[in-house]
Amino acid sequence: MRPTVYLFDIDGTLIDGGGSGRRAMEGAFAEITGDDAALRAIRFAGMTDPAIVRAGLRVAGRPAHEDAPIIEAVIEAYLRRLTAEIAATPEFRLHVGVRELLAALADRPHAAIGLGTGNVERGARLKLEPLGVADAFAFGGYASDHEDRPTLIGIGAQRGRTRLGRAPDEVRVIVIGDTPKDVHAAQAIGAECLAVATSFYDAAVLRGAGATLAVADLTDPAALAYLR
Ligand SMILES: [Mg+2]
Repeated sequence: MRPTVYLFDIDGTLIDGGGSGRRAMEGAFAEITGDDAALRAIRFAGMTDPAIVRAGLRVAGRPAHEDAPIIEAVIEAYLRRLTAEIAATPEFRLHVGVRELLAALADRPHAAIGLGTGNVERGARLKLEPLGVADAFAFGGYASDHEDRPTLIGIGAQRGRTRLGRAPDEVRVIVIGDTPKDVHAAQAIGAECLAVATSFYDAAVLRGAGATLAVADLTDPAALAYLR
């Protein structure tokens, strides 16, 4: 079996957050900036946490040169709010097929199973720990590594290759995501992409974006067959 790095997206791919992440981010943005409307028009899917805040600051008419400390403060406030928002969201859950797929991959030899996510690393943990799957991911590329999705995916891929002790040309890298942004990030680093149509985008759109394979959800046997 060819050594393989798996980079899983979180929101819309592993979990259905039931709006908890959006509520925590909107509350944090309002707390720090005083603007409770700017994030409403922004579709978060596929965006990294700092990119969401930055986009909100543009909508709010704030000058770009002030972004860095405000983004840091909003994300800290978001992390303080996130656990309570999750606890108050009964719909917060894993997507179907995720637990079974992770179990099936866990014993695959020469596999590095990690995250490739627009969440900051602490936010990723806060979302995955209540669902009992945080420890399934030994490493990741996160928005706390870089705001740009292709760059953070590349960082995650490199960490996975290091864990496998292999050179880049020996390793297959597969991004598992739910948006065209995941597909494009995979393409940007020469990785494959398994796309799941479990959020805003249907399989045809994801296929059109260039996904190597697009499935309705991770219970599709084609997903595991492809990943193994
Ligand atoms: Mg996603």
